[in-house]
Amino acid sequence: MSDLFAEHHAVARLRAERLARCTKPFAARGSRAERCPRCRVIAGYCLCAWRPRVETRAGMCLLMYDLEAVKPSNTGWLIADVVRDTSAFCWSRTEQDPNLLALLADPAWQPYVVFPGEYAAPERVVSEVRVEAGRRPLFILLDATWPEARKMFRKSPYLNHLPVLSMSPERLSRYRLRRSKRDEHLCTSEVAALCLELAGEPRAARALDAYLDVFVQHYLSAKRRLPLDLEDETHQRLREFL
Ligand SMILES: [Zn+2]
Repeated sequence: MSDLFAEHHAVARLRAERLARCTKPFAARGSRAERCPRCRVIAGYCLCAWRPRVETRAGMCLLMYDLEAVKPSNTGWLIADVVRDTSAFCWSRTEQDPNLLALLADPAWQPYVVFPGEYAAPERVVSEVRVEAGRRPLFILLDATWPEARKMFRKSPYLNHLPVLSMSPERLSRYRLRRSKRDEHLCTSEVAALCLELAGEPRAARALDAYLDVFVQHYLSAKRRLPLDLEDETHQRLREFL
């Protein structure tokens, strides 16, 4: 492993493991450009100085579809940067990672599968987070494209006994409005920010959203080789969390 800082968090570890299992080198688009080993953004657009530092009590458990951890556009990475207790597992239909099962059974955590309620049996669906005394919420996020996530949800029997946390349409539209988001789809880090909000951690939620916005800007500017304005509104919003 030549990436010096590659194992600093769960998604970075998963990425390194997944790359090691590749029979041929994974070629991300634009991969000839050199990337920062820590934040995996193209050198010159590095995000490392912009990682927010916030306290978090909730935990995140990312179930990542095959190459998700390796994609430069993956936003699960950002969650692991912000939420200290983030774990990440590569999803498999046939094999169950014993560490994942142990995490789900750990009484310190109160797990929720985060997924649209219309896909689950109604008795499993909840829209609020109510954590029992002495436990911390653990949000299980399916980090994948939408068709992949639906498949993961259907074919993970070890999740079937857990409540399904579904975002209410009002909450979703309020969130979209606040973020001036036009498209329907939320990325994984936006879903995680909503979970933090529901868990009563609005400051961490805002930090994650502000970090995502800076990431998107760095990522797109790198792709188009555009200069960055580190004093613009997007960066300003993140500064309070640095
Ligand atoms: Zn970096």
